[in-house]
Amino acid sequence: MTNHRGADRTVSAETQVVAVIGDPIGHSLSPVIHNAAFAAASLDWICVALPVRGGDAAAAARGMRVLGLRGMSVTMPHKSEIGDGLDSLSDVARTLGSVNCVVRRGDELVGENTDGAGFLGGLHEDFDLDPAGANCVVLGAGGAARAVVLALSRAGAASIRVVNRSRDTAERAAVIGGPVATVGEPRDVVAADLIVNATPIGMHGTSAGNAGLPLDPASLGPHQVVAELIYHPADTGLMQAARSVGARTANGTSMLVHQAAVAFTLWTGVEAPIAAMGAAARTALLDHR
Ligand code: NAP
Repeated sequence: MTNHRGADRTVSAETQVVAVIGDPIGHSLSPVIHNAAFAAASLDWICVALPVRGGDAAAAARGMRVLGLRGMSVTMPHKSEIGDGLDSLSDVARTLGSVNCVVRRGDELVGENTDGAGFLGGLHEDFDLDPAGANCVVLGAGGAARAVVLALSRAGAASIRVVNRSRDTAERAAVIGGPVATVGEPRDVVAADLIVNATPIGMHGTSAGNAGLPLDPASLGPHQVVAELIYHPADTGLMQAARSVGARTANGTSMLVHQAAVAFTLWTGVEAPIAAMGAAARTALLDHR
């Protein structure tokens, strides 16, 4: 695999360190995106990927305190567990029961979740879309879907239908969205303005095509926006089906970049260099193909 070294740089005792933790962690794009951002913003900061085994999230939080890390990105399998090792959680992280970003505020470690804000940033970048007043269908009910449901609800969506193979997880995800969110059926897609795929169906390494997707691609129409959360591959069977009827589509790269951008600003207090982060992510994804 290609190494993404970014600009030549010197690491010194002054360099501020952030880490991304998870297991597996080798294919995380976070170091590429954040190191591109630090370089573009001329910050003497560095992001490193650290493999942390399941069950060790609280130990990683203690490590963050002792080692003086300035921030942490958190991925599977630690998103639910790491909160126990932190001093407080943001309202969004508490509501979702999931932390994807740890921020240092003085001596305190605060758990945040930036996926929903990243999703809204991606909608804006890809479609110039504000979901206020929109009728939305979210396919899937896992961690990403829950973040999307909460973000759409807080952004003023008129309705959110959570369509998922398991009804109990769909019900738990819908509760997060409040009164505008309910469990839906695949046929609800017909009346939707915005359809979000938050299942892994179509992801690299899964079987190709739309088999299992809780939606009939024939029910898509040209007035619709289809936001795919998958970014590898860049084009999925759902996106192809949606484009074939004239719907607008985008993959999950913008969400990935914007959730990282929110984390960058929480850590550094500096406006995120989105263009540099997006370029780094897209180049790295091309290398993965
Ligand atoms: P997750 O927590 O495992 O949830 C997956 C959801 O998809 C569950 O609701 C599950 O249904 C459903 N599902 C899984 N396999 C299925 C199948 N074969 N048939 C029907 N339904 C299926 O995963 P996640 O973390 O939410 O991630 C979901 C997707 O979003 C992944 O592709 C991930 O890469 C992507 N994602 C992208 C970003 C980004 O920044 N772009 C961020 C986060 C996630 P059950 O409830 O029935 O199990």
